[in-house]
Amino acid sequence: ARHYLDRIEAHRDLNAFLDVRPEATLAQAEEADRRIAAGEAGPLTGIPIAHKDIFVTREWASTAASRMLEGYMSPFDATVVAKLKEAGMVCLGKLNCDEFAMGSGNENSAFGKVFNPWDKNAVPGGSSGGSSAAVAAGLAPIVTGTDTGGSIREPAAFTGVTGIKPTYGRPSRLGMIAFASSLDTAGLLAHSAADCAQVLGSMVGFDPRDSTSVDMPAEDFTRHLGMSVKGLRIGVPRSWMREGLDPEVAASIESVLDFYRSEGAEIVDIDLRQAELGVPVYYVVACAEASSNLSRFDGVRYGHRAKEYTDIIDMIKRSRNEGFGPEPKRRIMIGTYVLSHGYYDAYYLKAQKVRRLIAREFHETFKQVDVIACPVTTGTAYDFGANADPVSAYLSDLYTVPASLAGLPGLSMPCGIHSNGRPIGIQLIGENFTEARLLGVADCWQ
Ligand code: GLN
Repeated sequence: ARHYLDRIEAHRDLNAFLDVRPEATLAQAEEADRRIAAGEAGPLTGIPIAHKDIFVTREWASTAASRMLEGYMSPFDATVVAKLKEAGMVCLGKLNCDEFAMGSGNENSAFGKVFNPWDKNAVPGGSSGGSSAAVAAGLAPIVTGTDTGGSIREPAAFTGVTGIKPTYGRPSRLGMIAFASSLDTAGLLAHSAADCAQVLGSMVGFDPRDSTSVDMPAEDFTRHLGMSVKGLRIGVPRSWMREGLDPEVAASIESVLDFYRSEGAEIVDIDLRQAELGVPVYYVVACAEASSNLSRFDGVRYGHRAKEYTDIIDMIKRSRNEGFGPEPKRRIMIGTYVLSHGYYDAYYLKAQKVRRLIAREFHETFKQVDVIACPVTTGTAYDFGANADPVSAYLSDLYTVPASLAGLPGLSMPCGIHSNGRPIGIQLIGENFTEARLLGVADCWQ
C-alpha cells in the first residue's frame, strides 16, 4: 500500500485520483496484516485497489466528479466496495472520471481532465479515465470502473490495459451513483485478464438491496485461465471491420484472430445489423434514465445548494444550474424531451423496441458462435479537445453500446501499438454469464 501511495503522490500530475487519504489506506493495510498474522487471510487480503468515484465510500469523499456532490461523505459503502473490503483488499482512494460517468475522454470531470500516461496530449478514455490511467501508470494493480455504454472497455483500450464489464445485474448497483439504471454495470480494469479473474469473484454476487441483482451461485472466474481455444467459434462482425475503422487497428485485430486460428479456433463471419442502430438507441434510453435519476439532486436532501435564492423553485433551479456541468445538463434536456408527452412513443418507446431487437440478434448469433471479437473503438486515444462536438463523441461509442443495451459481458484487452505510439484494443463479447470463458479466451492471447 505504501508503494502505491508513494507512486500516486509522485504522479499527481496525471490527476487520476480525486481523493487520497493515506491514514485510511494504511489503517486498512494494518487490518490486512493482522488477518495475515492470525491466519485469517484470503487470496486477496492486503492487495491494494482503488475505486472509481461513482461508488460511494464511507472513508473517502464520493462526488461522481461533479460539483453537485463536492466533498460528499456517504454514510455507507457501495456493495461492491464493501465486498472487496471484506475480501481484505486495501483501498487506495477514489478515481477521477467523467461527471456522472457521462463521457468518453474524462474531459467532463468537474475536477479537471486526466492525462493518458502514454502521451500527455491524449485522453485516457472515459468515463473511467482515472481508473485506466491509474492502472497504466502503475498507481494501482487493479481498480474498479463502471460501464454504461463502454466506460470500462474504451478507457482500457486507450491505455493498453485489460477491462471487463460483467453481465448486467451480476455486480450490485447499490451505492453506484446512478446514471442509466438499466445499463450501469460495475467492473474491473487491471494489467491482465488473469488479474481481473482473481478479483471478479469477490466483487459480484446477489444483493437483496438491488432490485435488478441476479441471484446466481458463486463461481470461480479463474477456471478457464490457461485453457485452449481449440474448437472455439469466434464470430467477427465483418461490416464493423471496414467502415470508419483505422486500418492499423483493423490489422492488429486481424493479427489476434490469426493467433486464435493458429490455436485451433474457428473464425466465423457474422452480421450484426441491428446492433449498428445502437448509438441512437443508447442515447435515447441512457438520457431518459439519466434525466430521471438526476432529478434527486434538488438541493434539498443532499448535494449542492445555492447560497442565494428567492423561493423553493428558485433554490432548486439555481442549485441544479450551479451544480451540474454542461454534459449532465445536455443529457437531462435530451432525456426530458424524449420522455415528454407527445414524444414518448416516437423516441423512448421506439428505442426500447429496437433495444429488444438488438438483444435478440445477439442471442441468435450466440447459437452459432461462442464469442464475438470486434473493435472497441474506431481508432486510438484522441487528443484533448479533438472529440468536443457532442454528436461526434456520441457516434464514437458505436462498438461498445450494443453489448451494453443487451446486458452482455464485454472485455477489452490490448493487442498492439499504433504507429502514433498509442495502444490498440480488441473487444470480446460473450453470451450472458460467460465472463469466465471471456477471461480465458483473453488469457490465451495474453
Ligand atoms: N461514452 C458513453 C457515454 O458518454 C459511455 C459512458 C459510460 O459507459 N458510463 O454515455
